[in-house]
Order: sequence, then structure tokens, then C-alpha cells
Amino acid sequence: MPLCDGVRVSWLRFEFIFLVAPSFSMNSVSRLFFLLPACMLLLAACSNQSQDVRESRFIMGTLVQFTISGVEEGMALEAIRAAAAEMQRIEDVFTIYGTQANAVKAFNASVPGEVVALPGEVDSLLKTSIEVAQQSGDAFTPVIGSLSILWGFSLPEVPVAPPSELDIVTALIGVDTQMLVHESKGWKRLNSQTQLDFGAIAKGYAIDRGIAVLREHGIGNAIVDAGGDLRAIGDHAGKPWRIGLRHPRKEGATLGWFEASGDISIVTSGDYERFFLYQGKRYQHILDPQSGMPAERSSSATVISVANATIADAWSTALFVSGAEGLPLLESRGMQGLLVDADGQMHASKLTILPFHPSAQ
Ligand code: AMP
Ligand code: MG
Repeated sequence: MPLCDGVRVSWLRFEFIFLVAPSFSMNSVSRLFFLLPACMLLLAACSNQSQDVRESRFIMGTLVQFTISGVEEGMALEAIRAAAAEMQRIEDVFTIYGTQANAVKAFNASVPGEVVALPGEVDSLLKTSIEVAQQSGDAFTPVIGSLSILWGFSLPEVPVAPPSELDIVTALIGVDTQMLVHESKGWKRLNSQTQLDFGAIAKGYAIDRGIAVLREHGIGNAIVDAGGDLRAIGDHAGKPWRIGLRHPRKEGATLGWFEASGDISIVTSGDYERFFLYQGKRYQHILDPQSGMPAERSSSATVISVANATIADAWSTALFVSGAEGLPLLESRGMQGLLVDADGQMHASKLTILPFHPSAQ
């Protein structure tokens, strides 16, 4: 039975997403929870009886959900097709995984001291990343590649045990942006352990590019939601988009929701996305560049910014590593933060871009 007239197709698609999700290379908790925002949006759609067009694609290791409101279906689908192609292109340019060659992998394999020319957009995102590293006290850093690969959270097989202390100490030598040197013809690294990893920022950049392409196709009201990291533009049939924030521990529950209109990014780094349990301890994919170990202060860190999902993505990772004490730093950059710490306590920054409506727990 359709939930309401305008969203019959979307509802069917939602069921389909749910059914195919278990084949993805994610843990079962992630599979379930990254569907929540779609669910919340579906409720919003019903309340407005609007005709949304909703499509999903598997890009960057996650399900990317496009929701477009207020235009006819053919125009929306064409815009989504182009936006998805652009986001896939960005994954190919920035990924350090898989066998397809790219400049980032070439850099990571270069002889220390050799200058490697990086394409303009890689050069630009690297400069942005270095800035955020400096501003965040290296809680976020783009040179975490060797450590990321050592832990292996993004490899096809989820790891079953932590690496050795010696291997962690060795990889940590490269986790230092001072080991990157920019020259007129490109970049060089000073140590073979210094490897780029854009995993904490490229998804936000892809979302921004996806939104830009949608706009080029005449779309003014849309959400691009990459597994819970999203940017919302315009509104939903004259009302704000309603966006749920998943609970990091309670399966199927939300912490609360936001109402967004205009141009807003909401990006979350969570310890439920990729993790394994070893001898009763949880090891998750966001690493503390100081210790080389999974960061332990947070279970979920959300950053809300006006427009820019790229910056929100980098800062959500930084906030996750820093914990609640990182909130004032975030605010000083004009962003709002919401953090669930390792004990399950929620901390919110004083700066409010969007009011947060907590769910009854
Ligand atoms: P996110 O889910 O946006 O927080 O990004 C996590 C991904 O970024 C990981 O899978 C790693 O590839 C990479 N990463 C892990 N820890 C850090 C860190 N402290 N700084 C920058 N990138 C990181
Ligand atoms: Mg991030």
C-alpha cells in the first residue's frame, strides 16, 4: 500500500534499497542505519503530498540518495544521472583503493623527494586539507594514508584484529604534513610512510560537486545524501527539509532532527560506520593521528555548516577525534557541532545554524 499518493515510487525504491543493502561491504549496523535519513525524508514528503523524485546510487562505498522536489521527473532524473556521474568521477580521482591508476596513488607510490604533478582539483583539495589540519591541531590530517591502509577499515575484507604496535609506530612517522613539500611543478613527500588519504573530506567534496551539477541542470530544491552526510538546497514544496540524525547506538532510533532550508550541509562521522570487535573491544575507522589508534572520545560527531559540505566533512572527522573540547574551535569557524561522546553524553555547540529537535528517548 502506498504511504501517500505522491511518494509511491519512492517508497517502493526505499524497500528495494533495504533489500539489496546486505550485499554491500559494510557491517550490518551501518547497512541498516544509513537508510534512516531516507526514511525521515520520506515522512517529510508525505506531510507535504509532494511529487519527489528519489534515486540511489552506490558511490564511494556508500549509498548516495538523491531527492529532488518541484520539477518534472524527466528533468530530475537527467540531473541526477549527471550528478551521480560527477560523484563517481571524484571517487575515481581521489580513491587510494582498487587497481585503477590515479595521481593520488601515484603520489603515494612515489620515491621520497620525487616531485609529482597533481591535477588541479587534487592540488586544491590537498591545500584545503592542509589548512584544516593546521586549524584543527592535526585532529584531521590528509597524510594518514599509510595508517589507514595498515588498519584496513576500507579494504574489501573488514579487518579482524588490530595491527602490531611496531607497525603503527612505523606508519605514524609519515603522519605529519611537514613531510609534504609543495613546489612549482607539484608535490613531493619526504618519507615513504607519508601517504595521502582523502577519505575524510572527498565525500563532502563529491556532495558539493553533485549539488553544483544539479544546479547546472536547473534544480533548486534537492538533497544529496551520501550515507547520512548531506547537503540540502532550497526547500521541500515550500516547507523546510526534515532531516533525521541517527542514534549511534540504538538501532533504528534517531537522536533528533533538523529542519533545513536554503543551503545547508549536515555531515556526521560515527564509530558505527566501519568497525570490528576484538577481544571485547570496539575498533573503529576514525584514527587519532597522535596515537595511531582509533579515536576514543566520541561515538558520533555532526557538523552543520552553511553550504560547504567539503569543510563540514573534514571538520566532522576532526571533531570526532577531538571530542567535546573541539566544539569551540568549530564554532570559531562559523560551524555548529553536535557530539555524542564515548559515554553517550550529548554536547552541542552554542552557535546555532539550525535548531536541533531531540527525539524523545
Ligand atoms: P569520516 O567518516 O569522514 O570521518 O572519514 C573517515 C575516513 O577518513 C577513514 O576511513 C580514513 O580513510 C580517513 N581518516 C581516518 N582518520 C582520519 C583523521 N584523523 N584525519 C583524516 N582522515 C582520517
Ligand atoms: Mg569526514
